[in-house]
Amino acid sequence: MVKHIFVTGGVVSSLGKGLTSAALGMILERRGLKVSMQKLDPYINVDPGTMSPYQHGEVYVLDDGAETDLDLGHYERYTNAHLDRHSNYTTGKIYSGVIARERRGDYLGSTVQVIPHITDAIKDAILKGVAPGVDVAITEIGGTVGDIESLPFIEAIRQFALERASSDVMFIHLTLLPYLRASGEMKTKPTQQSVGKLREIGIQPDVLICRTEQPLSDEMARKISLFCNVRRESVIEERDVEFSIYEVPLMLVRAGIDKIISRRLHLPVEVETNLDDWRAMIADMRATTQSCEIAVVGKYIQLHDAYKSIYEALSHAGIANHCKVKLRKVRAEDYYEQGSILLDGVDGVLIPGGFGERGVEGKIRAIQHARETGLPFFGICLGMQCATIEYARNVLGLEGANTEELDPRCPHPVIHVIPENAGVEQKGATMRLGEYRCELVEGTLARRLYGSSQVLERHRHRYEYNNEYRQKLERAGLVTAGLYADKNLVEIVELPSHPFFVGVQFHPEFKSKPLRPHPIFAGFVAAALAHARNGGRSGVAERTKA
Ligand code: GLN
Repeated sequence: MVKHIFVTGGVVSSLGKGLTSAALGMILERRGLKVSMQKLDPYINVDPGTMSPYQHGEVYVLDDGAETDLDLGHYERYTNAHLDRHSNYTTGKIYSGVIARERRGDYLGSTVQVIPHITDAIKDAILKGVAPGVDVAITEIGGTVGDIESLPFIEAIRQFALERASSDVMFIHLTLLPYLRASGEMKTKPTQQSVGKLREIGIQPDVLICRTEQPLSDEMARKISLFCNVRRESVIEERDVEFSIYEVPLMLVRAGIDKIISRRLHLPVEVETNLDDWRAMIADMRATTQSCEIAVVGKYIQLHDAYKSIYEALSHAGIANHCKVKLRKVRAEDYYEQGSILLDGVDGVLIPGGFGERGVEGKIRAIQHARETGLPFFGICLGMQCATIEYARNVLGLEGANTEELDPRCPHPVIHVIPENAGVEQKGATMRLGEYRCELVEGTLARRLYGSSQVLERHRHRYEYNNEYRQKLERAGLVTAGLYADKNLVEIVELPSHPFFVGVQFHPEFKSKPLRPHPIFAGFVAAALAHARNGGRSGVAERTKA
């Protein structure tokens, strides 16, 4: 029998519900259980693929090509759960399914309504998110309890619990205890009101996880327990972490969440939650004295969420190299105007993926600087495309080389739409999406770093390296290190004459985990660390000249 945990959020958004859900999944796995993770998002977009980073942060891509919410990134980084297109449903996806069925005539003349048709579809979606063999399915409900648009989801999980044994379903509510500095007090009223909202619909939370800045006193916890009808021991403090978000699972276990869940869902209680390797990893991070600084030159630099998985993957690579990775976020447009002064003192440059014109010329200039001065460089997706354009322009002398995305009539489209995709106009889910096999070319840095002859990596792009320029680029030194053999598409380029210069067409950041850092990120940070140790010199300028 699969046990279900539903995680809701109250008072405000951005409480770290995704991270907390992921931590819960990890804790249960460390008790020997198999978990699945799912997110239900109340917005009407069918998926976040068409949403601006300003609205939504990064779009997280799964193996099967589903474009999903960035919380799924937390799930994959913390757990081994299998995620696919059933792991993220939005209101839009639920409604489009119901409307398609209505058009087919599947409802046999009945009036199609929120209850029961939409709520039934939500309950089906919850079950579809459970992979075979799973012991505990964790479903996070996006948004904040009390929002109009979350109502059908909250109603659906109420029904879901009603239809099952009480020991098979539990509700965990994440809430905020604001601290009022002026009066020096922590306030419980918003929590009481958001639990009140849940209880109005008929959901009694079993556990309250209270996000706080200050310690939660016993007195305060008792008050919350009394007013919210939740047992005292199930009112749990989740204080802002001082050092790293990786401390969240440890904090929750210290508060006894593992035992509370086990007792509530009739799971084995006498098992140890083994987080030894995780604890050792954090101790190692704390003890680290070395550091290097990486500049991320991008378009949405002011939004941490826009490049979330990249920042995470850099931090994992830091763990692998026993060093702290400091980030310098540089707006690509500022680079265009102010130039390499913005990269003074950094040990590596990373250019992330992106769409559209803004900032591209700045990225190209930053790549030129990294290439010419031997500064470690890592380009991802658009970053790899820009590296190819830079090389074509400045080394091959192909004036006006560009990507068709920005200049469809440019004289040298070194990045282009492959013919089979020309003419696709619809925007949603029409890119090269999801996992593709990449063959690694013998003798290349990429092959050495991966330690394997082929890898699976995730994609999300429309444009590709143009093979018509391949011979010229290769002869001039830009080596093809990875290929999608079926379609002869270039996936990795690198410069052997440089300490570290790698561009990848895919998104390796989606495959990095704290305890299993991505090999190219690890290699990049190792090169940056070597650069830092060398007092910020790499000696390549001389090498290139020679
Ligand atoms: N805009 C580019 C393309 O569609 C790159 C996409 C990306 O960086 N994810 O090919």
